[in-house]
Amino acid sequence: MDKEEVLIELKKINAKKILLQIPDGLKPDAFDLFNYFSGLYSVIISSTSFYGACDIGNQEVYGKVDAIVQFGHSEIPNIKYPIPVFFIEYFYKNIDLDDSIFDILKNDKIKNVGLLSSVQYYNEMNYVKTKLEKLGFNVIIGKNDKRLKYPGQVLGCNFSSAHSISLFVDAYLLVSTGMFHGIGAQLSSDKSVYILDLNEKSVNNIKDNTDKFLRKRYAKIERAMDAKKFCVVMDTKIGQYRKKLAENIHSKIISMGKDAILVTTDNANPLDFENFMCDAVVFTGCPRVSIDDEDKFKMPVLTPVEFNMLFGFNRNKKYVMDEIVSVDYSPIK
Ligand code: SF4
Repeated sequence: MDKEEVLIELKKINAKKILLQIPDGLKPDAFDLFNYFSGLYSVIISSTSFYGACDIGNQEVYGKVDAIVQFGHSEIPNIKYPIPVFFIEYFYKNIDLDDSIFDILKNDKIKNVGLLSSVQYYNEMNYVKTKLEKLGFNVIIGKNDKRLKYPGQVLGCNFSSAHSISLFVDAYLLVSTGMFHGIGAQLSSDKSVYILDLNEKSVNNIKDNTDKFLRKRYAKIERAMDAKKFCVVMDTKIGQYRKKLAENIHSKIISMGKDAILVTTDNANPLDFENFMCDAVVFTGCPRVSIDDEDKFKMPVLTPVEFNMLFGFNRNKKYVMDEIVSVDYSPIK
């Protein structure tokens, strides 16, 4: 949706008061966006950081506005939002790639390419697909589950579109920037993952980055082996709330003869866990918190998958990324 389409939708639902959620990277546009909507609506902007369509803020806000307009993310289709939420996606523009950047795929004898993309780069997939096909590659785009809006899309917590084609590809090419999505895709598959970075205009195999990530991650999570007191955390954000999973992990910890408490949060604050004086945390919300924020916490913070692997509850000994799959998410109960 663009801004004009959102205005039409807001008119249809007779909205009077709206909340704008603007990611940090777009906050410099906040005054323009506020002025754009405030001619027609009573507007308030959330200053709180948020990281995806799984997070529409604190439930207390819902009763005070008629709709939320979120910028920079795409809808997560399996979330049942408690009030209308309209998403204005921001797509990357200007693409012009030299054929030679794809030589690395030819040199590595890749023929069947699974094409993936994070949502900001989704519009570029067709351009990349056409280019790869002209260069003689067979391009396959995987089916998304209900947590993803688009075929071939990946989220930091969902790689279903990669899983769906793993038998048919020699490697994946992910259109993205940064490493997190690529490492996640690599850990979800035995096939090689290459990142096409549109800012750098380069294609790189991320095996070394993944190995480095794993070494650092193992060093962190192994410290939890000796933990006696655990906090098992449920994040109350609408698309991250995994109560059953948290309860399941809590029971497992108790069955090991260790101590554990169940904790809720809508913004994991390292100091809270220091005050709880726990030795380790298992965080069942966004998998990125355990990994991106690992250095902010004094104690190891494990994803549920890491916990199961470390304490032998997972028959598969291989490290895999924690994923939130295609179940329906409703308001918190
Ligand atoms: S749970 Fe985390 S990775 Fe998944 S959509 Fe939300 S912010 Fe992104």
